[in-house]
Amino acid sequence: MDIKRNILLNPGPATTTDTVKLAQVVPDICPREREFAAQMAGLREDLVRVVHGDPKKHTAVLFCGSGTLCMDVCLNSLLPEGRRALIVNNGAYSGRAADICRHYGLPHIDLKFPYNQPPCLEEIERTLRENPDIALVYTTHNETGTGLLNPIGEIGALAHRYGAISVVDTISTYAMRPIEIEAENMDVCMASAQKGLMAMTGLSFVIGRRDIIEASRDYPRRSYYANLFRQYDCFERTGEMEFTPPVQTVYAAIQAMREYWAEGERAKWERHTRAFEAIHVGLEALGFRETIRRDWQAGLVAAVRNPDDPSWDFQKVHDYCYARGFTIYPGKVGTAGTFRLCALGAIDAPDVEAFFQVFRQALDQCGVAVPVRYGD
Ligand SMILES: *Cc1c(COP(=O)(O)O)cnc(C)c1O
Repeated sequence: MDIKRNILLNPGPATTTDTVKLAQVVPDICPREREFAAQMAGLREDLVRVVHGDPKKHTAVLFCGSGTLCMDVCLNSLLPEGRRALIVNNGAYSGRAADICRHYGLPHIDLKFPYNQPPCLEEIERTLRENPDIALVYTTHNETGTGLLNPIGEIGALAHRYGAISVVDTISTYAMRPIEIEAENMDVCMASAQKGLMAMTGLSFVIGRRDIIEASRDYPRRSYYANLFRQYDCFERTGEMEFTPPVQTVYAAIQAMREYWAEGERAKWERHTRAFEAIHVGLEALGFRETIRRDWQAGLVAAVRNPDDPSWDFQKVHDYCYARGFTIYPGKVGTAGTFRLCALGAIDAPDVEAFFQVFRQALDQCGVAVPVRYGD
């Protein structure tokens, strides 16, 4: 089968290999068969290994849904009655976490910081010190809207010092940037198959400490479908998801996991780094400026400032590139004057170089002056 290869420079879903795509084509199977449960058991163990977890201490719980479901699950399931969550909010994704708290009416502190720099640790510590009812500190590892890397190890250490658990959204770093769950003071993290794992959409995972998940047994059950203990308990008792899993997506994730181990943690991160370097080189050659200081970036997402050129039209540039197999992505709220180029997926530097040739043509086609200009 010849499948057209598209280069996705959006922040996930990512470019996948054909072997992962084709792994979805399997004989029909009822997911209640033991054979399928065994497949998921292996995947759960591997998901823990990716973040160097201890299989006795840590577990992975699978959910059918996109990454936001895991944010929802962690926040609605891991907060004891009468306690508060602290959301370290410096971007669109941590803003979404605060939104989830508001949606459930969860007591929380939405601690806002500027979107373009790491959060102030002193302020986080002061908030923890002054609010001993905080039971959960929530941080986004890589704020995918801007590409900013947050100091999760330091924030997790503060959480622990003040008796709270550290929950981290690692959705846009997991299986890309090497992560050590315990060394980086994380109790619970999360991921989604279509990002770092380079698999299909529709499957997401919460990875974390068993004792913390087990302690949440008696916390309020704020969601019927999306409760962490309930899904964990079902996996532990039966090896199955409580409700129908995304069967073919699971097979693709298992193949993606095989390819992850075959490539290797370090080699994979080096490949993403090469692709990201190529993005910077390409941008610099055209005069583009970025929103976040290079040394504060997580190394996967470049948030690029739109040039001050009346001919710049993101949609037109996008459409030109899209028609040629390259996808670029608009900015997020708060960074509305930006667009994004990301180094997720099964791509390497030559793919990015090929993109920049097409991107350059797109700029010419639109009449955008190169090198691009900025008013400041
Ligand atoms: C992609 C992403 C999510 C989840 O988004 P979905 O569209 O629900 O998959 C959550 N957090 C971060 C940091 C992400 O990059």
